[in-house]
Order: sequence, then structure tokens, then C-alpha cells
Amino acid sequence: MRISVIGTGYVGTVSAACFAELGHSVICVDIDKSKIEQINAGIPPIYEDGLSELLEKHAGKKLSATSDYDFAVKNSDVSFICVGTPSDPDGNIDLGIVRAASASLGDAMKYKNDYHIVVVKSTVVPETTEKVVLPIIEEHSGKRAGEFGIAMNPEFLREGKAIYDFMNPDKIVVGSLDESSGDIIASLYDELKCGVTRTDPRTAEMIKYVNNSLLATKISFSNEIGNICKKLGIDTYEVMAAVGKDFRIGKHFLNAGAGFGGSCFPKDVKALVGKARQIGYEPELLKSVIDVNERQPAMMVRLLKDRLGNLDGKKIAVLGLAFKNDTDDIRESRSIPVIKELLDNGAEISAYDPMANENMARIFKNIEYHITTVDALKGADACLVMTEWDEFRNLGNEFGVMKNRLVIDGRHMIAKRDDIEYVGLCW
Ligand code: NAD
Repeated sequence: MRISVIGTGYVGTVSAACFAELGHSVICVDIDKSKIEQINAGIPPIYEDGLSELLEKHAGKKLSATSDYDFAVKNSDVSFICVGTPSDPDGNIDLGIVRAASASLGDAMKYKNDYHIVVVKSTVVPETTEKVVLPIIEEHSGKRAGEFGIAMNPEFLREGKAIYDFMNPDKIVVGSLDESSGDIIASLYDELKCGVTRTDPRTAEMIKYVNNSLLATKISFSNEIGNICKKLGIDTYEVMAAVGKDFRIGKHFLNAGAGFGGSCFPKDVKALVGKARQIGYEPELLKSVIDVNERQPAMMVRLLKDRLGNLDGKKIAVLGLAFKNDTDDIRESRSIPVIKELLDNGAEISAYDPMANENMARIFKNIEYHITTVDALKGADACLVMTEWDEFRNLGNEFGVMKNRLVIDGRHMIAKRDDIEYVGLCW
């Protein structure tokens, strides 16, 4: 099948590379010319394990990139919309980029006689495909639904494991208005040997939000329990290890800590809250999921102040800037509010992340970035562990270079030892 992928961010680039690997011909479209050049040169515009190898293998053969919608639509049968769906200032979904991409697709479809299918892969609130994307494409193409196909195919990949997840999905959801468009989209995944859940578009949209909201709920629930456990002197990890043995609960996403970040959980839970309010329902539980998550980073700083008092002029090492391990993505990383609050309190930041220093330097230009943990720890009055990078798991003697060996662990990573003052966030 000939596929075009609109938007070459995390989801678009990974989907494009994996569709090429599955044997399809893929054209990527982005308005960012630098990304187009990188992809055509076989260089990933983002870091993802295994992506570089796939792009190198397929660029210039099964995969190419352009900013020309007309070319991409003319030379493909299916277009996947993979552009961003950020939050607006009130936390509601901002569909501006989806609207712009839909209009460009519609314009390009106007002069195409062959049947074309538009698939929304971006995470969008229920009804968006039918009530926003479809009318825009009809208006710009001058065609009616039926003369072209429309479907929704949410993406469940995890950053850091995105290629593996795309190639080894535990579910594929295809929501379509008409049966035959759904059949075609489902057939793109034939090689993956995973059952395809077929729905209408709004159900497919909802499945994605419920998936992310439930995972986020498990994390905030675990953080709340962790906060209570800490006050009671109970090890929340011991508690959750036992609780997670219940097959109805499962052992994943029960780790208490500094909270969830990333480009999906925070914005998706907020968008679902916004959508619920828009239809007259006040989602108390989902609001609490966000509230608990926003409290956790401030608790890291409170623990620090309890020990050090005034932070003015104190040097604080921040280990981990990415929102999670194995990615350079810092979107909504929990280290952002922590660094902000430390700076507001007059502290000096000495930061280290194996991959995300450069990205964080775009937000905080005037803090120190280091290329090793030891460099970041040298002379520090305290250290905060913010991301669960594997390399932090074995830290021990390295803390010896600190001026004051206070370690506040936000990710349950560091082994307690006699020569450091160890403080766990919820344990
Ligand atoms: P991203 O911001 O990394 O990438 C979006 C890309 O779209 C950018 O390269 C941007 O230049 C491009 N773009 C913007 N306007 C455009 C236009 N008019 N035409 C063509 N390209 C345009 O976003 P992402 O993280 O890949 O997320 C994309 C969608 O997938 C979002 O809805 C997100 O919620 C969802 N999603 C993301 C993940 C994830 O882990 N990142 C996982 C599942 C679903």
C-alpha cells in the first residue's frame, strides 16, 4: 500500500519507518523543512531506539519526505494525520494543527480522482474525526464522505520503546465510518499478527483517552498511597508489590514517585476533563489525578527545604531531565517544575541527563549542564533524582564528590547506604 504520513514527530516518524519496514511505500509530510532534510538523509529527527537503523535502511527507497501535500496525496492511497494536539491555556485540546493539516489534505485531494482514505492517528477527543476533520476535508476537497474514506486509528506506542511497541502491539484499534475503509486500514497491519479491534471513529478516539487516563490514574493513586505510607513509616513499594499480585490490578504503573510527565498523560487527562465539562459532566476523579500529579514535584523541593533550610546560593544537582528514561523528550518532565521552584528559591542548578541536556537548555538557558553524573554532583549541597535512567541505579561512591551527601530520590532508584543521607519521596 502507498501511505503518506502527515507530521514527522515521535508518532509520525516511528509510524512511517515501521510502515516501510512492513513493506509499504511511505511519504512523510512536514512543514518543518529541517525534519524533511533529516529524514531524506536517513537521520531521525528525534531519538528512538532502533529508529536510526530503520531510516537508514528505507530512506531514499521505500521512504521519502516532502513538504508538498499535493505530491504526497497524489502518490499515496492513505494519509495518516500524526500532527500534535497540544493543550490550550485552559487545558482543553487545541485542534489548530489538526485543522490546518486537514485543510491542506483536503486542498490536495481536490484534484485527485482516485479514492483516498484519511486516517486520524493523532490523539483527539471523541467526535473530532467526524465533527472537525471530516467537514474540513469535505469543504476543502469539494467531495463528500463516501467519495473518500475516513477513519481513526489511535497510537499506543511508548516513547523509548516506540519501534518495539509499533511492531509488537497488544492492540490495534481502527474506527471507521464505512466498512471498506476500515478493512483497508486494518490490512496495513496484517504482518503484525495482532487482532484488530474495529469500532466507529468516536469509540476509537475514546479508547485512547481511557487507556491513558487509566494508566495516569494508577500512577496518581500510587503516589497518594505513597504519600500516606511515608507519613505512617510504611514502605509503599512493599505494599504495592503485594497489591499488584492481584490479577485484577496488575503490577505495572504502581510505582510511587515524582509523577508522570511526557507529551501524552498530562495533556490527555486534561483534554478528557475538558471534553467531559463541555458536555456537562464534572469529572472529579480525573481532576484529582492531575492535582496529585502536580503536587509531587513540589514535595521534592519541600523535602529538600526541610533538610537544608534556605536554598539561596545552595548548589543542587538534578539527575535526570527527560520525562522518563530512554528518551530525550522533556515535554511536561517533572524536573521542569522542580528546577523552576529551585531557581525561584535562589538555588544554583547543576544538571545531568544522558540524552536530554540539549532539549532542557532550550527552556533553562542559565543552569549548568554536565556530561557525567560525577561532574553534576561535584560540590553539591544536595542531589535530586528525577528520571529513572538505568545508570542511576548503581550510583554509590559517586556521591562522595558532593559537599553535603543529601540524596532525595524521586524515582526509588538509589540504594540506601551509610555514607549518604537518603530521603525517598514517598518511602
Ligand atoms: P510532535 O509534536 O512530536 O510532532 C508533530 C509534527 O507535526 C511536528 O514535526 C510538526 O512540525 C508537524 N506539523 C505541524 N503542523 C503541521 C502541518 N500543518 N502539516 C504537516 N506537519 C505538521 O507530536 P507527537 O509526539 O508525534 O504526537 C503526535 C500525536 O500523536 C499527538 O496527538 C499525540 O498526543 C499522539 N501520540 C503521541 C505519542 C507519543 O509518545 N509522543 C504516543 C501516542 C500518541
